[in-house]
Amino acid sequence: MPSPSLAILGAGLAGLSLAEALIHQGFPATDLLIVDPIRPGAGASGIPGALVHPLPGRSLRPKPGYGEAFAFTCTWLQQWPQHLWRTTQVLRLAPNPEGRERMAQSLAQARSESPDHPLLAQVQTLDAATLQVLWPGLTAEQAFAVPARTVHLKALITHLSTHLKQQDHTFITPEHLAVNTTPGGWALTTPQGRETVAQLVLTPGIALNTWFPQLRLSQVHGEVQILHQPAWNGVEVALSGSGHLAPLPDGSWVAGATFYRAEQPGSAAEARTWIGHRLGHLVPHWESAQEQQIWHGQRTVIVPDREPVAGAVPGYPHLWVLSGLAARGLLWGPLLAHHMAHSLMGETVVWPAAVRPERLPPQSWELASIGW
Ligand SMILES: Cc1cc2nc3c(=O)[nH]c(=O)nc-3n(C[C@H](O)[C@H](O)[C@H](O)COP(=O)(O)OP(=O)(O)OC[C@H]3O[C@@H](n4cnc5c(N)ncnc54)[C@H](O)[C@@H]3O)c2cc1C
Repeated sequence: MPSPSLAILGAGLAGLSLAEALIHQGFPATDLLIVDPIRPGAGASGIPGALVHPLPGRSLRPKPGYGEAFAFTCTWLQQWPQHLWRTTQVLRLAPNPEGRERMAQSLAQARSESPDHPLLAQVQTLDAATLQVLWPGLTAEQAFAVPARTVHLKALITHLSTHLKQQDHTFITPEHLAVNTTPGGWALTTPQGRETVAQLVLTPGIALNTWFPQLRLSQVHGEVQILHQPAWNGVEVALSGSGHLAPLPDGSWVAGATFYRAEQPGSAAEARTWIGHRLGHLVPHWESAQEQQIWHGQRTVIVPDREPVAGAVPGYPHLWVLSGLAARGLLWGPLLAHHMAHSLMGETVVWPAAVRPERLPPQSWELASIGW
């Protein structure tokens, strides 16, 4: 078997969607090595149910690049089996009349700035009567309906990794890894031996901070609750306000998500209380739903702008990074993986300004050591 020429460290959504994009664009699978200390989906990408829509946050004014990223994700999902993702709408709810006014103003402003924006044309303002048809008994007077998708991300990761295995790439989970520069690229040393690759891509989620200690990165814990057989079964749309509740492809629902900075994860009971407090007063018969699971994970958040980092690492030839996907893994991940695959294959790519590593202070990219 030929030696790999490119290694990806980290087998989450970032790493696997990159591997898949490379192979899709004609990169030989046998030249690809994926390394993870645990297993595919061991990090944040193991989340059972995730929601993606193009207007996250409190405003309805799309941030630069979000519309394009969402459109890319929608097309990207279509290649995967239907039981892994679902088309829906998300009803954006404001917590109070002032919040509602701010959202309406942000939408009006966005429409006046970009009258032809295809995404803004799809946002609908719904009154109380329409809401009662979509979600009988919902406690809300007005909402903005935005196109959305939900994804069984854990199952999608399993699918991606099985799909990649069939293409004959190499995947290893070594107990230890040490990475050093060599004249031609990077040497990866594991208890099993040494491999030299020309290009190295870092997609390790929260571990990025141990390799670049000066990168300002925050690890934000969170939980989601998976619910089944709720009284509102038959409703087809998701809710998003100070929490979200969304229908998954298999008929279950995802509710969440909590978020907090702490040394240790909180308890399942705390998560359950928080989620019930945020959603229980909005949704009739909240208590009817049965809990299947509370899932915990950690988001990798780049300070201060909470946007990802993707591209060549400044100052290090043949070293690349795709991380910091925060709570928007499905919004940014597939598009950035696509751009990176093109870059790695020598093509010129215009990266969205929001994600460029150069936007961060230069010392962020001082490398300590790579490995575990
Ligand atoms: C509670 C919660 C709710 C969320 N909800 C949503 C949502 O609704 N919609 C959405 O789009 N996103 C959501 N996200 C975010 C989404 O899960 C992440 O953005 C995405 O999964 C990150 O993918 P990743 O590949 O960058 O990182 P990860 O999935 O964390 O993958 C990193 C991989 O690197 C491996 N690794 C760890 N240490 C090392 C190391 N030292 N070296 C090499 N590899 C290493 C890990 O084993 C792991 O497999 C949520 C996250 C959380 C925590």
